[in-house]
Amino acid sequence: MCGIVGYIGHQSAAPILIKGLHQLEYRGYDSAGIALSGKEQQAFHLFKAKGKVSNLEAKVSSVDSAESASLTTGIGHTRWATHGEPSETNAHPHLSMSGELALVHNGIIENYQLLKEQLSGYGYQFKSQTDTEVLVQLIDYFYQKNGKQLMKAVSQALNKAIGAYAIVVMEQSNPNHLVAARKASPLVIGIGKDNEEFFLGSDATPLVEYTHKVIYLDDEQIADIQPGTAVTITNLDESLANVNIKDVDIDISALSKGGFPHFMQKEIFEQPHCIENSMRGRVIQREDGLYEIKLSALTNFKAKLIRARHVIIVACGTSWHAGLIGKQLIEEMCRIRVEVEYASEFRYRNPVIEKDDVVIAISQSGETADTLAAIQLAKSEGALVFGIVNGVGSSIARAADTGIYIHVGPEIGVASTKAFTGQITVLTMLALALGNALGTISEEKFQNICSQLTTIPEKMEMVLKQNDKIEQLSERFTYAKNFLYLGRGYNYPVALEGALKLKEISYIHAEGYPAAEMKHGPIALVDKEMPIVTIATHDELYHKIISNMQEVQSRNGSILAIITEGDDEVKRMVSEYVEIPSIHSCLVPLLSVLPMQLLAYHVAVKKGLNVDMPRNLAKSVTVE
Ligand code: GLU
Repeated sequence: MCGIVGYIGHQSAAPILIKGLHQLEYRGYDSAGIALSGKEQQAFHLFKAKGKVSNLEAKVSSVDSAESASLTTGIGHTRWATHGEPSETNAHPHLSMSGELALVHNGIIENYQLLKEQLSGYGYQFKSQTDTEVLVQLIDYFYQKNGKQLMKAVSQALNKAIGAYAIVVMEQSNPNHLVAARKASPLVIGIGKDNEEFFLGSDATPLVEYTHKVIYLDDEQIADIQPGTAVTITNLDESLANVNIKDVDIDISALSKGGFPHFMQKEIFEQPHCIENSMRGRVIQREDGLYEIKLSALTNFKAKLIRARHVIIVACGTSWHAGLIGKQLIEEMCRIRVEVEYASEFRYRNPVIEKDDVVIAISQSGETADTLAAIQLAKSEGALVFGIVNGVGSSIARAADTGIYIHVGPEIGVASTKAFTGQITVLTMLALALGNALGTISEEKFQNICSQLTTIPEKMEMVLKQNDKIEQLSERFTYAKNFLYLGRGYNYPVALEGALKLKEISYIHAEGYPAAEMKHGPIALVDKEMPIVTIATHDELYHKIISNMQEVQSRNGSILAIITEGDDEVKRMVSEYVEIPSIHSCLVPLLSVLPMQLLAYHVAVKKGLNVDMPRNLAKSVTVE
């Protein structure tokens, strides 16, 4: 997701930081900044810019070269907003109110609101809307209290912080000192010759040019970095940790896009981590082992959400498919009637919207023009508008009354992948939490689904391990002119999504159908030339879909089946299959869509097409 760089040594820090930030641009971001320091007790030189690193670079170039040469310590950041809109004020580095500490942070501090209230009580004031500024003030609080020992202050503060972080902190009183720490967000420290200089990065990309000796910090470790001495590392309880120095020998060209050839593949493979982020601080296992779901939107708008007699989901494209899964989830767990509408149709057809309705708007970018217009319409009728978006501070996030960010990080590939699974995760949490509040889901079922939901990241990893197999079988499908995707129940929208992915990037015509509908028309198209992707996982409709597959096979159709691990019955029936781990049927889409994404990706790559920027498509559809 966002990027962190740092430098401390004898060279001018600014050019190293700017170059490093450019090298981390592939991670996606909305603003950037650096803080520099050289002399003791001198205020930090702080530069921030909205948008591209090149905007920041232009500002930094205003420093005269003699001065720049003396600024030999610095930290830099590309931010991808999670708390507070993308703006110069919210961009990192953030300074403590005393001006004595500067911090860059990647991740989310979940309990920032509570900490902010406590710090306000001690007189701290905040300039930005970020969780990060709360963290720097918290470190400052302990720093001032304990005689300005930075390492100690960082560990005290991190012991209070809940969430994910990679941080680097600078102190004004000692420009020869950096402190770095991480938990669940990546951070690498590069060691220069004879410990005379150190380089920091979210990954090794910005470091390998200077050094091959690196330390990968472990979770909940804090590193003390001072040129001239070896790095020391402590754990959160201030005990000393082992320092493991590794050799990295990476070809720098292979590192753009994090080592993946395309953003889309990188984003497909990021999904386990993204889903963890999406659930972070929301699906909580209590000390007694039981789960609860905490969604601030539900706490703040509980009365209105509980009163909802009718839910209308408005969305476009992939988000619309997520909406179809959302409908099934909400109807199953909350027993509320749900309609799913194309935003473009909804806005022009004078729909029936009542005051007690809840309109859920789903959009990756949060800028989708039709969805935004649908929101305006819903608001004018007095409905409660609930946004599910990825883009923090986006137009839809601002226009909605409340909502949930999916927190999957920037999605750059035009064909949406991780946003889709992020949307489904959020819809699942919403349905579970609302169902629990309404009493329409039994405690046993609630606990069962919550606990299975937490296994999704690890099960996604298992599916992604079949990448090579899917790549091989995609070869056969490269020449197909048409594809049919079939699924039932929760997997019907996944069939639609699989077909859409293939259309978008491989330019092969594909259609998704509820499997049983096939008999009412599409079966006429089936012949040995047409691949049929069928999702036949173990659920209530398993036997029905087996019959649908038999109907296809009797017409010589060739089937690629997505099946539950160990399903020998289907393995005997079909020549090609991909297995996915067993999971509660309402969570299957989070796994069954992965082979669809990989299949579309590999077919398009084999056809030599521009996977990340398919023809005629735009990432953010801001026109109707
Ligand atoms: N949560 C922080 C913010 O919104 C950091 C985001 C990031 O990782 O870029 O500023």
